[in-house]
Amino acid sequence: NTIIKFSGVNKRYGETMALKQIDFELEQGKFYTLLGPSGCGKTTILRILAGFTDASAGTIEFKGKKINDLPANKRKVNTVFQDYALFPHLNVFDNVAFGLALKKTAKKVIQEKVLEALRLVQLSGFGDREISELSGGQQQRVAIARAIVNEPEVLLLDEPLSALDAKLRTQMQVELRQLQQRLGITFVFVTHDQGEALAMSDEIFVMNDGEILQQGDPVDIYDEP
Ligand code: ADP
Ligand code: ADP
Repeated sequence: NTIIKFSGVNKRYGETMALKQIDFELEQGKFYTLLGPSGCGKTTILRILAGFTDASAGTIEFKGKKINDLPANKRKVNTVFQDYALFPHLNVFDNVAFGLALKKTAKKVIQEKVLEALRLVQLSGFGDREISELSGGQQQRVAIARAIVNEPEVLLLDEPLSALDAKLRTQMQVELRQLQQRLGITFVFVTHDQGEALAMSDEIFVMNDGEILQQGDPVDIYDEP
């Protein structure tokens, strides 16, 4: 069941060709990882998917419909950023509730959804905490809760674990994988860490210099010389 399809997607920034003829199909409910060195175009793919920037050429389909021109707020796609991007002056509950409150969702529904999202990231009971009181790992969990609270169909994760220490990173890899399976939605995860990609993914896209060099499950990728 294809949810996202890129056909011949190019992205140019001035003289830089950030993406060169990218083609891929993502299936519903799978954990995908874009793996490659800094500057290879991973974030650019996420930004196009999220609607933060447009492709220079090619088509992007969401469930069979072209979405090149669909604005960011009309897509059922959310992003978890590397630096969390939380609101420091709001507590945990209000950070997670922010998007729902903007859409004038009923108080009772917000309450239910936020508590469920906090439960899923193992932060039950943290609603009243200030962001500044939280560890890096806890802040990242809040960012994830905020991104899943309005039930997106696709979650984009841009190196979300890179600021965490090694031990917590390994733990969060397991938790993210479990969360993806529990939600049953498509994750597109970006990393330059091969171990991380192998540990978490159903399928890995190995990128370099704006191209996808290889695509396969972790066993395929690991066996490659
Ligand atoms: P990655 O996420 O793999 O580190 P990016 O997608 O951020 O790679 O960048 C791909 C290429 O496009 C890099 O050469 C980068 O410098 C360039 N690039 C990204 N964003 C911009 C921008 N807004 N303006 C100009 N060049 C950009
Ligand atoms: P990452 O490595 O996580 O992709 P970057 O630090 O490369 O993040 O990019 C952060 C922001 O700067 C993005 O919005 C990206 O589009 C922009 N950017 C990246 N490279 C360039 C560049 N060469 N010129 C202008 N903007 C850039």
